[in-house]
Amino acid sequence: MAIERVKHWQLGDIRITRIFELKDQCELSFLLPEGTADTVKKYPWLKPHFATPEGQILVWFQAFVLTFRDRRIMVDTCVGNDKMREFELFTKTHTAFLEDLTAAGCPPETIDTVLCTHLHLDHVGWNTRLANGRWVPTFPNARYLFGRAEWEYWQNRLPEKSIQVQHLTDSILPIIDAGLAVFVEPSHRVSDEVWLEPTPGHTPGHVSVHVASQGHHAIISGDIFHNPIQFAEPDLPSAFCIDAKKACHTRREFLARYQDKKALIVGSHFCDPTVGWIVRDGKNWRFDYD
Ligand SMILES: [Zn+2]
Repeated sequence: MAIERVKHWQLGDIRITRIFELKDQCELSFLLPEGTADTVKKYPWLKPHFATPEGQILVWFQAFVLTFRDRRIMVDTCVGNDKMREFELFTKTHTAFLEDLTAAGCPPETIDTVLCTHLHLDHVGWNTRLANGRWVPTFPNARYLFGRAEWEYWQNRLPEKSIQVQHLTDSILPIIDAGLAVFVEPSHRVSDEVWLEPTPGHTPGHVSVHVASQGHHAIISGDIFHNPIQFAEPDLPSAFCIDAKKACHTRREFLARYQDKKALIVGSHFCDPTVGWIVRDGKNWRFDYD
């Protein structure tokens, strides 16, 4: 089935728009080293959207735009075009992300705020684009909100000058140099409708984004989950977490806090249907979706 690159959901007065960028399929052990194909097969509800019959998992890379009143807030900015990265999937890509964003009714110059849940390469890439051989802000009229503790952690790693920190050089520093960066605390309130919630572990300053309107609540979860299998297996440590133990604790706490459909979960890396609910399933949880 063709991927719906642009998709909208309505939450009270807020429109949530998804812009799809890339997809991947891999062994669970790539993400969760203690997981196997048999772990995946234990949960039939993962198929067909989030896992293959053979027990591989499916992951998408996508961004979300929140539109309400006169605001237009972009949450995470995916991988970006033309960048040199450690992984081939992310290197020198040429996707139609900006064209899709414009077609969705959100041209780059209309974005007033960019929020990064954390500063991994697949959440900051479109912060900048290549213009005449230089990285320039993609969203020239936006304030870019970065977690203060998150930036402090990565800033200390800049001297490595390795490919693992290349994304800071091409996607964060040009924003700071342009005077568009604002460093915020992990519970920062962006507006009456949108605020951050600290969800540390994956990275030190990782946050999730709480969206509320007319009594409806949704959370863009960021990377506390990469695949809904982590609802059922919250304690499996992830290979991509800086503090895996803390990330497991955060995940459990999050699942317990929003279980019983207290908030719609918008999974940053979840394939369609992308949004759904946390429901209790024995000792742990599962993802309930339409
Ligand atoms: Zn990610």
